[in-house]
Amino acid sequence: MPFIVKNTSFPSFSDLLFPYSCRGCEHLGTPLCEHCKKYILSTHIDYCPNCKTKKTKSKCPNCHDLPPIYVVSDRNGLIGKLIHDYKYNSVRALSQPLAELLSEVLPKDLPKNAFLVPIPTATHHIRSRGFDHTLLLAKRLSRIRNIKTKPILLRAKNTVQVGSNRSERLSKAANAYEINPKIIPEKDATYILIDDVWTTGASVLSAISKLQSTGIKNIIVALLAYSSN
Ligand SMILES: [Zn+2]
Ligand SMILES: [Zn+2]
Repeated sequence: MPFIVKNTSFPSFSDLLFPYSCRGCEHLGTPLCEHCKKYILSTHIDYCPNCKTKKTKSKCPNCHDLPPIYVVSDRNGLIGKLIHDYKYNSVRALSQPLAELLSEVLPKDLPKNAFLVPIPTATHHIRSRGFDHTLLLAKRLSRIRNIKTKPILLRAKNTVQVGSNRSERLSKAANAYEINPKIIPEKDATYILIDDVWTTGASVLSAISKLQSTGIKNIIVALLAYSSN
């Protein structure tokens, strides 16, 4: 299947003053050139990050309880480098090409009554990075696909995931989120969860069960990368 990637990023004033170079090939003028974007899409496989197997349908036959999961590529590849620069070096301009990659792996026809739900970022991470990386990604995708962003999930408390071991992270994440009291869940709508990387899956699994606890049935997960090791 040929991948068509639309170039919808326009250079900002600061881009013109300080031109970016492509993280893949160092081509000047863009943080990710069209060639490298197509290269990332060529490495895309239909993969279940939960049971770590290739699948042939969006819904994994081994993981009956999970909604369909769409994920761009393995974090060991170029996508991992982009996510790192986006989050830890605060290269906000990467939000646009990353959202375009997400858009490419999501189905062309998404349900009409759908909302994008960014997985909430810890407040201290937003403060230290200067922006909320999943919210910005969701906003960019929102423009590309014309789907509203609905921040229905909030962080229950400041749970730090970095540095904890796997079992600690899983137990902390179990109660990591709460439903935003200002938003009434629409039980017939489809909620598309947006996150960057599936590492243990703790955050995404916790977010799924929180949404399901309100009676929401239609959930889709869209991720930039999975951890294959
Ligand atoms: Zn490039
Ligand atoms: Zn699976």
